[in-house]
Amino acid sequence: MHYLRGENMGDVRKNNRTRFLEIMFKYGPVSRSEISEISGLTPPTVTALANELLSEGLVEEFGIDTGNRALGRKRIQLSLVKNSRLVIGVEIGVKQILAGLVNLSGEMLIKRSVMITFKEPDTVIRQTIDLIRDIVKECQDKKVIGIGIGATGLVDSDAGVVRNSPNLEWRNIQLRELLEREIAIPVVVDNNVRLMALGENTFLNHWSEVSGLILIHAGYGIGCGIILNGQLYCGNSFSAGEFGHTVIMPNGILCSCGKHGCLETLASGRAMTSAYRQKKSLEDLEYSKIMEKLLKNAENGEQGAVDILSEAGTYMGYGINNLISLFAPDSIILHGSLFHSEIYTTPVMKLIQENHYGNSERITIKQSQVDDELVILGAGALALQRFLICKIVTG
Ligand SMILES: [Zn+2]
Repeated sequence: MHYLRGENMGDVRKNNRTRFLEIMFKYGPVSRSEISEISGLTPPTVTALANELLSEGLVEEFGIDTGNRALGRKRIQLSLVKNSRLVIGVEIGVKQILAGLVNLSGEMLIKRSVMITFKEPDTVIRQTIDLIRDIVKECQDKKVIGIGIGATGLVDSDAGVVRNSPNLEWRNIQLRELLEREIAIPVVVDNNVRLMALGENTFLNHWSEVSGLILIHAGYGIGCGIILNGQLYCGNSFSAGEFGHTVIMPNGILCSCGKHGCLETLASGRAMTSAYRQKKSLEDLEYSKIMEKLLKNAENGEQGAVDILSEAGTYMGYGINNLISLFAPDSIILHGSLFHSEIYTTPVMKLIQENHYGNSERITIKQSQVDDELVILGAGALALQRFLICKIVTG
């Protein structure tokens, strides 16, 4: 199966439809004349497109023109029918697969998960297919138009391939093709942290056209997703956002990427649990148990635990200040379990506030209000963009 991007089709009618739908998502409910004003499309074109989308059941009218001046003439507005098209968002994480059915408003109608016991690709892909099929079966006659998948590591979204996922130990897995072979719904894949940024900007930031939004995820590892001028920034070879592998301490600890002193070796959950494991001789405990102990003991005032968290938070603060200097974003979103710890987050915020050169007082910094569902929302948003707004053709 071969896909072409909508914007390359050179088909004016399809491009007009894309523009119309974008406006519906960003500004709806809107009247026909407002759509014409915002888009620059002529009133007859807007009328024709509105009729097309009304007949497809994708939009609806409300606010009837009474024709009675005494009652006040209401302008007829158009709005999206939020459950008329649905997408499935999936996160293939390190420990579990999460999937959800998402509507046009970003509401999650069904959510399912399954634990990953073997990281071997065939097994994980089989589990993913079963999970998607369960959801499709449950939503019966409702129209699922696409599936978005977020996976950890370097993901080539154009090719639909997971190039390298150290956490899953996957290399060059043709994820999109393997899924589409078994499920008759188009699939799009991308990196999980990038999709968090897309989910935040699409559904929580209301399809904002911000000049810059950076979502920083800190848990076991560290990554970031970058939105520039309202669009997800993927970089050359889809490798943008490797914030965890920016070097903060030359000649520091050897990182899994082969460099020394990456932020991930200083400020991630993995780095902190490794330091605490050594300090307290906790060799037998797994990551989540050590992390739990570290956070709890730090909160109870154990100096060794407090030092590990606040030192890691300090490095994270330096890292974020570098991002602010580079991108001068409008908004920074902090996401992940580490940012729930005040001891970790306090030095982060202090360093950002002291960064006057980066104009930090103009930047909105907030914690994401969504935890583990954010990748599902972002994957759903990507599927909506690809398969509804910029409609993709198969050939
Ligand atoms: Zn590294």
